[in-house]
Amino acid sequence: MASSCVHHTRITPLSRSISNSSPFRNPNLRLRRPTRPIPPRILRIRAIDAAQPGDYEALIKDQFERSTKLKIAIVGFGRFGQFLAKTFVKHDHSVLAYNRTSRIDYSDVARKLGVLFFDDPHDLCEQHPDVVIICTAITATESVLKALPVQRLRRSTLFVDVLSVKEFPRKLFLQVLPVEFDLLCTHPMFGPDSAKNGWKGLNFMYEKVRIGEEESRASRCDRFLKIFELEGCNVVEMSCAEHDRHAAESQFMTHTVGRILEKLKLESTPINTKGYESLLSLVDNTSSDSFELYYGLFMYNKNSMEQMERLFMAFESLKKQLFGHLHDVLRKQLFENTEAGESSQEKIMLPKLLHNGSVVESRE
Ligand code: NAP
Repeated sequence: MASSCVHHTRITPLSRSISNSSPFRNPNLRLRRPTRPIPPRILRIRAIDAAQPGDYEALIKDQFERSTKLKIAIVGFGRFGQFLAKTFVKHDHSVLAYNRTSRIDYSDVARKLGVLFFDDPHDLCEQHPDVVIICTAITATESVLKALPVQRLRRSTLFVDVLSVKEFPRKLFLQVLPVEFDLLCTHPMFGPDSAKNGWKGLNFMYEKVRIGEEESRASRCDRFLKIFELEGCNVVEMSCAEHDRHAAESQFMTHTVGRILEKLKLESTPINTKGYESLLSLVDNTSSDSFELYYGLFMYNKNSMEQMERLFMAFESLKKQLFGHLHDVLRKQLFENTEAGESSQEKIMLPKLLHNGSVVESRE
């Protein structure tokens, strides 16, 4: 394995570097007396890092790097795109990024992260990345994908998405991208808030939608997945349809409850219970995500509507249960009073009846 990264400097004596066409080599040419003194024989640098026949070190180093390192282009350099980029850079992959707007100075953000930023998608694609990751808002994915100049990419490029819904990008990739491209749908089930202390033990779901049979394609996909494995994620292979069923119950529900609680403007108290603290951290974990993201979870997962309805029904049923209980208590009190009233009446009336209507004073 090539371990050296020292630049090789080759030094060639000047006399040996004179070509055959040089007048110094041609016996038929008469040499004129030099007007200046001939410089002493010196050593001159003729080439730096030029590959020489038999110089396998650079070649092997290059092959080694290509077999382990990836050139990853992130399309959509928002909150989550930047979050992913940090870890890709940490793993020594070369990371490029593109974002539709320059409302924020993304190039500055990128530079700090060690990412090469492009304002123009054509320039990004001309870099021939191994992997292109779509990391845009769910709602914008279709227009972004259709506008990408994919003809400038290599034919075997691996397309990955990290959208929080899965059936939608799967279908879109199959519809829009050329058949030569490899397709991998993934969902890291965490974000900048929930994974601020690392990715260890967090779930990462993927479906290999279309990966070419060649060894190089399979290994490129595995190298990409390996990043999440090395970070300690629980990497789960699952179909996109199954993901959406589970995610509507778990993720969409979490975000919905988090957003409802956020509207209540809950505040920490001096006597927080553990449960209440969990609620506060749920608000923290969900409120920084864009509404665009939440809307995408609702709109682009066909199972979300059903979950929303179940949530309303559950709330209604709980309310009924509470109010029903309250009603029972009130009614009981009401009737008890009435019954108590009736029985005292009885106590008054009974002696009267016993004495054939004649009024007999009660002893009480
Ligand atoms: P987001 O609001 O879902 O997406 C923001 C990104 O989308 C930005 O790059 C934004 O560009 C771009 N975008 C928005 N509207 C666009 C449009 N009309 N045309 C082109 N680009 C547009 O927030 P995010 O948290 O960064 O999420 C990005 C993706 O990652 C989403 O698909 C989300 O489902 C997925 N994801 C997020 C998390 C998370 O925890 N945040 C976790 C897993 C997966 P501008 O900066 O120009 O607005």
